[in-house]
Amino acid sequence: MPMLLVLGDIRTQESVGVKADAMVLEEHRIVFVGTRDGAKDFLGQTPHTVHDYGQNVVLPGFIDSHIHFLAYGMGRLKQADLMGCSDLDDLLKRLKVQATKSDSGWIEGRGFDQQAYPNKEWPTRALLDTVSSTRPVVITRVCGHAVVANSAALALLTPAELADGNAETGLFTEVAISHIRRHIPKATHADQDAAVLEAANIALTHGITAVGTLLDTADQLGSYIRLEKDNRLPIRMTGMPPYASIHHLKAFAMQTGFGSEYVKIGGAKLFSDGSLGARTALMTDPYSDAPGVYGERIYDADDLNNKCSDAASNGFQLVIHAIGDQANQETLAAIIGAMGDDRSNPLRHRVEHISVLNTELVEQIVEWNIVCAIQPQFVTSDPWTVDRIGTERSKFAYAFRTLWDRGVVLALGSDCPVEVLSSAKVISSAIFRAPWSPTETLTLDEALYGYTFNSAYAIFRDDIIGSLEPGKLADFIVYDCSYDDLGNKLATGIIPSEVWTNGVRVR
Ligand SMILES: [Zn+2]
Repeated sequence: MPMLLVLGDIRTQESVGVKADAMVLEEHRIVFVGTRDGAKDFLGQTPHTVHDYGQNVVLPGFIDSHIHFLAYGMGRLKQADLMGCSDLDDLLKRLKVQATKSDSGWIEGRGFDQQAYPNKEWPTRALLDTVSSTRPVVITRVCGHAVVANSAALALLTPAELADGNAETGLFTEVAISHIRRHIPKATHADQDAAVLEAANIALTHGITAVGTLLDTADQLGSYIRLEKDNRLPIRMTGMPPYASIHHLKAFAMQTGFGSEYVKIGGAKLFSDGSLGARTALMTDPYSDAPGVYGERIYDADDLNNKCSDAASNGFQLVIHAIGDQANQETLAAIIGAMGDDRSNPLRHRVEHISVLNTELVEQIVEWNIVCAIQPQFVTSDPWTVDRIGTERSKFAYAFRTLWDRGVVLALGSDCPVEVLSSAKVISSAIFRAPWSPTETLTLDEALYGYTFNSAYAIFRDDIIGSLEPGKLADFIVYDCSYDDLGNKLATGIIPSEVWTNGVRVR
C-alpha cells in the first residue's frame, strides 16, 4: 500500500489548539505530522497518494468516554424508543407498536421522562396493564435509575422484592430494579453481537471511533471479543465491568489495561447514588422542590471505601457514578482513601458525571488529580435543575470551566442511551450550554481536546489514539467546513463528511 498524504486544517490535539497542515500515513499508522513542506521532505521519492481537504477541518476520531454501548444497540433492536414522547398517550402508543413486534415474552421500552409530560405525570402499573395484561411490560426512565412495571411483570417478584419498590404504582428505583430485570431472558450471543454492530454503525456516523463503555455484566465483553476475532468490530472499545465481577476477571489475570488495540478492560464501575431526574441523586441538603427528600445512598460509606480499596489494590481503575454533592463527597473520600499517598493518580480513577460540587470538592479533585468524566448534554437536557436543587447549588452544577481552569482532566462523553448519541450535541452542549446555566462553558478547542485526548486518557488509550501524532493509529475524521465555522455547525448537528479508522475510510 502506498503512503497517504493528508492535507487540511489538521487539529492534532497533541495539546489544546495545536495545528498542522499535513499528515502522512503508512498502512494504519501515522508516520509524520507537520507542514506541507516538511511532509514533502519526509516523503522524498516515496510513492504516495494525496487527499487534499483544503481548509477543511481534520480531527482525531472522537472518543466517547462514558456510553452504554451494548444497551444502546439492544434498545434500538429490541425496545420501544420512548425518548421524546410528548405525553403518556404517546408513550402508550409506542409501547403498543412494540407489542406487535412479537407474540410473546417481555415488552420493553426505554427513555421515558415524566418531567416533559403535562403535569409531570409518571406512567403507572395500571397504565402499562393496558398494553398487556398477560405479558410482562417494563419501561426504563431516560436516566436508567427508575423503571415502571406492569402487573404481569410484578407477579414474578417475591413479596420481599415487591416491598423494595412501589407495588401499587409499579415504580422501582436503583438496586430494586434488578429484582425485575433478572427475570428478563438473557439476550443470545447473536443478539448481543448485532446490538454492538448497530451501536457501532451509528457511532461511526458521528465520527466516534472509540468508546469507553459500561458493561452491565463482565460477559458482555464476549461480544466485542467475538467480533474482533472475526474482524468485524469496527470501533475500539474499553469495557468497564461492574465491581462485582472484578475478582472473576482477576482470576484470569485480567485487570484495567488488559487487552488489544480494539478490546480492552477499563475500570471497575460502581454507583454511589442515582439521578437528579428521579430525585435519587444523594444531596447533603434536601431537594429544593421536595422537602425532606435527600436522594438515595447506594453503599454506606464504609462499604464504598472497602470496595474502592479492594478494586484499586487489585489493579482496577475506579469508575464511580456520583451526581449529588453528598455522593461526590463520599465518592471522593473513598477514592482518595484507596490511593494511599500517591496523588498523581496513576490508575486514573474517575468520577462519572460529578454533577453537583462545592468549593471543597473542587479542591480535592485538583489536589488528587481525579479524572472527571462529564456528559455536557445533561446541561441542555435538564432545564429544571434550578427548580430541583435551587440557585446556590446550581452555580456548582456541571462546573466545567471551573474544573478546566484548575487543570482537571475532563473527559467528554454522551452517556447514551441516557442522552442521544450525537458527537455534535456533546460538543455544542459544552460550548454553548443552556439558559439556566450560561457560564461554565468550554471553548471549542477545549471541548475537542476533552472529547479526544482526555477521553483517550480516561480509557487507557492515549498510547495509540486521541491525538494525531507520529506512531499513533490513523483514526481521524474530516468536517466539510472551516474551523471558524465548526462551532456553529456543530450546534446544528453536523456530522463528519469522512471517518477513517486504522488508516481506512469507513464513512
Ligand atoms: Zn451512564
